[in-house]
Amino acid sequence: MLSYDQALDVVLSRVRPLGDECRSLPDALGQVLAEDVTAAWDMPATDNSAMDGYAFQRAAYQDGGILPVLGSIRAGDAPVRGETGGAMRIMTGAPIPSGCDCVVPKEDVVEEENGIRLLKVGGVGANIRCRGEEFRRGEVLLKAGDVLRAGEIGLLAANGRAQVRVYRRPKVALLTTGDELVDLGTEPGPGQIVDSNHSLLSARLREEGCDVLSLGRAADETADLKGLLLRGLDADLLLTSGGVSVGDYDLVRESLDALGFASGFWKVAIKPGKPVLFGMVGEKPVFGLPGNPAASAVTFQLFVRPALRRLGGFSNPLEPRCRAILTERTRPTGNRQTFFWGRLYCAQGCYRFTPSHAQGAGQNRSIKAANALLSVAADSPALDAGQEVEVMVIYPPEMETVV
Ligand code: AMP
Ligand code: MG
Repeated sequence: MLSYDQALDVVLSRVRPLGDECRSLPDALGQVLAEDVTAAWDMPATDNSAMDGYAFQRAAYQDGGILPVLGSIRAGDAPVRGETGGAMRIMTGAPIPSGCDCVVPKEDVVEEENGIRLLKVGGVGANIRCRGEEFRRGEVLLKAGDVLRAGEIGLLAANGRAQVRVYRRPKVALLTTGDELVDLGTEPGPGQIVDSNHSLLSARLREEGCDVLSLGRAADETADLKGLLLRGLDADLLLTSGGVSVGDYDLVRESLDALGFASGFWKVAIKPGKPVLFGMVGEKPVFGLPGNPAASAVTFQLFVRPALRRLGGFSNPLEPRCRAILTERTRPTGNRQTFFWGRLYCAQGCYRFTPSHAQGAGQNRSIKAANALLSVAADSPALDAGQEVEVMVIYPPEMETVV
């Protein structure tokens, strides 16, 4: 049986980034840029005022003097010619009149009948934003591989880019399996449970910026499974839940085999999540996650998320890690590498990790409020509270407020 590291290597060696596509700027949020973007123009395009105030020529002003006000310029006006010996009222963002080289903020002047008297005055260039100060035409603003968050979207917009080339956002087909499951909104009968994995995995996929193609739920029966799995191959990645273990009705593997599935691995020496299945149908990665909710969520983190990041062109497909102090004792591990859900937070200037109380593979509760996973090697004794551990960060930790 492969170890976690070996199995992850198998996934990363088979999965390749999807091609790139042109997207309108708002739709590219969260995606990875597939081109270098250079500045189309100087920003700002002209020298302009950083304050609401008055523009004048510094050398023409004598301390204690009065400057007559000769006009007013608004943001959006074309540049005008200034006149020596006078001042122009100027609004923030308006072009500096030629001949002027200093702006005094409105707050620093007294308006008098025949002009303004300056209470404070800066030197040449005071309160002026110079042409090209932010960026110059031809300068590289963003590089292929950069992730587009709000700040990057704003910069692209300032540069007039309505469309950008980005790596394609993965479209993921999601299929849950199990005769015992009922749809959300249906009261479970005797022996039945609500299909919670569909909701959990679909939410997790959307958190990762994927488009979800829901295939609904298959019965534990090969004809039904094959038909739905085949439809799933329309997506970039196929994800199933349940039916990959050794039970009589675990039929996902044999149903995939009929579709030309090239197995990468089945079963990994981890807990929870041992029965996880991975392989390719042609160029499409396929993951069969175990049905137990916490096992499904762990194997999503360990294998599916790195594959999604690789597909989406992210340079680092792996979760960030962080060292933290364990706040409670863990139980010893058995013969498999064990993953504990828990809460990572910062207190008294130090990261701390509290394992969830219910760690059973079948328990949705262990994932609730969890933002990190602790990995403990096989055959480890219990780890004590106070010990330093390394955890995999899934969501940013809660930070303490510094007062
Ligand atoms: P399986 O992997 O199909 O053998 O299922 C293992 C356990 O997980 C069983 O107790 C199932 O009832 C449960 N299970 C399977 N699929 C789901 C699901 N979609 N939502 C919640 N529990 C599930
Ligand atoms: Mg099942």
